[in-house]
Amino acid sequence: MADYYAKYKNRDLWCIKANRFDTGIQNIRETQFALGNGYLGTRGILEESPKGAWAGTYIAGIYDHLTSQVAELVNFPNPFFFKFTVKGEKVGAVAMDVLNHQMILNMHDGLLIRRTVYSDSKKRRYDYQSLRFVSMHDKNIGIMQIALTPLDDSAEVEIQSGLDTTVHNKGTITEGNKRHFHIKELAQEKNSSYLLLKTLEKKHQVIYRSGFYYMIGKKRVYAQDNILKLKLKKRQPIVFTKVFYIGACSGKKEDLRKLQRSSRMKFNKAFRGKMESLLKSHCEAWRKIWNVADVVIAGTSDIQKNLRFNIFHMLICGHVDNGFSSIGARTLSGEGYRGHVFWDSEIFMLPFYAYVAPEVAKNMLLYRYFRMDPARDIAKKQGYKGTMYPWESAGTGEEETPTWAKDLDGKIIRIKTNELEQHITADIAFACCQYAEITDDEDFMMGYGYEMVFEAARFWASRVQRNRQGKYEIRDVIGPDEFHEHVNNNAYTNVMAKWNLSTAHKFYQTLKTTNPKFFRELRSKIDLTDKEVNIWKHIVPKIVFKYRKKDYVIEEFDGYFRKKHINIVDLDENGIPMLPKGVKVKDYNTTQLVKQADVLMLLYLLGDFFPKKAKKNNYRFYAPRTLHKSSLSPAIHAIMALESGLLNQAYQFFNVALRADISNLHGNSHEGIHAASLGGVWQSVINGFAGVKIVGHTLSFDPRMPITWHYIQFSLLWKGTLLRIAVNNNEAHIKVESKQRKKVNVRIFNKDHLLVPGKGYIFRRHARKPEGAYY
Ligand code: BGC
Repeated sequence: MADYYAKYKNRDLWCIKANRFDTGIQNIRETQFALGNGYLGTRGILEESPKGAWAGTYIAGIYDHLTSQVAELVNFPNPFFFKFTVKGEKVGAVAMDVLNHQMILNMHDGLLIRRTVYSDSKKRRYDYQSLRFVSMHDKNIGIMQIALTPLDDSAEVEIQSGLDTTVHNKGTITEGNKRHFHIKELAQEKNSSYLLLKTLEKKHQVIYRSGFYYMIGKKRVYAQDNILKLKLKKRQPIVFTKVFYIGACSGKKEDLRKLQRSSRMKFNKAFRGKMESLLKSHCEAWRKIWNVADVVIAGTSDIQKNLRFNIFHMLICGHVDNGFSSIGARTLSGEGYRGHVFWDSEIFMLPFYAYVAPEVAKNMLLYRYFRMDPARDIAKKQGYKGTMYPWESAGTGEEETPTWAKDLDGKIIRIKTNELEQHITADIAFACCQYAEITDDEDFMMGYGYEMVFEAARFWASRVQRNRQGKYEIRDVIGPDEFHEHVNNNAYTNVMAKWNLSTAHKFYQTLKTTNPKFFRELRSKIDLTDKEVNIWKHIVPKIVFKYRKKDYVIEEFDGYFRKKHINIVDLDENGIPMLPKGVKVKDYNTTQLVKQADVLMLLYLLGDFFPKKAKKNNYRFYAPRTLHKSSLSPAIHAIMALESGLLNQAYQFFNVALRADISNLHGNSHEGIHAASLGGVWQSVINGFAGVKIVGHTLSFDPRMPITWHYIQFSLLWKGTLLRIAVNNNEAHIKVESKQRKKVNVRIFNKDHLLVPGKGYIFRRHARKPEGAYY
């Protein structure tokens, strides 16, 4: 039998393959094989929707609250549904015997390819092949092609397609399954279906159009309906092509009218056009994306493939929609955390986008900017000023953290992160500055960023409490380490707040002289006064910060050092610490056990503010106390191990982060990809092994990688200039690609160099001068 999609299967270092069908991990595969284009995300469900499958189709930024405790990303109808039946037997996994099965995610071209051979109850075999994609070129369009061939006998095949509206959001125990939309219209138009949905609460309107055709000889036959019967001869293949459109608008009538028109046009163009040209433009869009986003670790194969898997998943959820959406903790590949946006987005994912797709990073910040009013309301409600961002955010920007959940044993657990995990406000301000530093996007800062940084500083100034010694404390919080609740002076929170206040003060003073007109406008817009800003300056040096004088080990929060030290002795097969015997979850609070990087997170983000020995000493102190009960933790530990000169440990942590979802290391990949880990992996390669850092306003390279890696090759957009980079421990090749004539200042192996656009350079660690142009 011809292998229709063979040419898309051969790129070994770009393909993730599943070589058998296993019901036990079906839902994990669906997450891993998700496709998307930032606007749409679809889980990699098999077309026939086998028993136990979890269909998931999500639209960036569309959440709904009705019938659930908090808003959740809406699971919309499954457009890939396609089912064959032969004499009442479903041609599909679980229903028939699977003789052969292979599913391949081709990350280079954003394609999901499948080939399965089934055997029915009479031992007649069927060859089934499919290819699908969600277009990166036209974000409303998706395509699927299926080729079916009865191998042993002729067959009368019943075909059922259309849009599967039986989908639902998988609820928590107390909520059960929910459908967050209702069907307003469902029609069969000329050869295609039309579906209009409305979400229950916010009244988002969503239009689906879909249809399929098949070939008889060279003739294209459009199916008149979603149900069809065809007689197939033995070994006669039949190829179906399904095209769908998905688009959304607000609840307004005029928006719907517009969408109806544009959806018809777009759909018809795709449906009447050639599948090959749709595929070509999709692949071309992917080629352009990878041209900047790819990272090559030469000398590795598994690592290479898994690294691309992590990058691929960031590329399919990065979106630009004027801040309508940001990226949830499980991307658009599942319903974990109900699609909510956490600090995962700004601190873990945003750097990747800022360097390779800055418009996505900006979009993530605009998402926060346009939700400043709800953040102001949250602050006000708690008696503070400025903006206090919600710990979990969805559509509106209100606090969406569920305040309680029911455990499997029926126990009610109170969730306090919404009230107490406040560092997110400083994290968002930090991300604004990091984005601006990487991109030099001063327009963003003037339009949005400065205001966000000022309002966040205002929050911290109202949040701190002066103690008897005249120091400022931040009492009653949860830091990144969520094992310890209601703590005072969490070092991460305090220092991030301090950074926020001092940066805001600096901006204020600078803008006053460099841009007085803008300064005056912004000042009056948000009612800022010199007096208020002087208070920020006054608070900064007095924020409580505690560390051991002898070795600079930072105390995670007041009293942490007095908690019980528990030796972590056992590691699991991945080298991750196991919960020491006899320690119960409820006891975490009384121990020094740490959930995830906390002090180390601080030293990663703001390491330059501390003495050199701080990183190493804190790493040696905190790593043996950390259980990594969050996917955010291993990647940061990899970087901090490198900063501490411990390559071995770094490599081990990196491998854990790298395989978080490809190996389901956290046991919950079926709920979606761990977004923060994706970003953490990228950072551990670029900022870790390749040693990229921003020092002052200069990009610096000081690699420290395993010797089995020949080099790491990657591209970064640095202040609008594209740098093509290949580094190993002794050599750095850099080419500056830019239309501008501006020279670029970089620091390589601790020496500063001015690079000229259009030229390529080689630097050796011990050489005194670059070797000049080499291209
Ligand atoms: C982590 C948080 C993270 C959240 C969403 C929690 O388990 O402790 O830091 O933001 O998951 O990924």
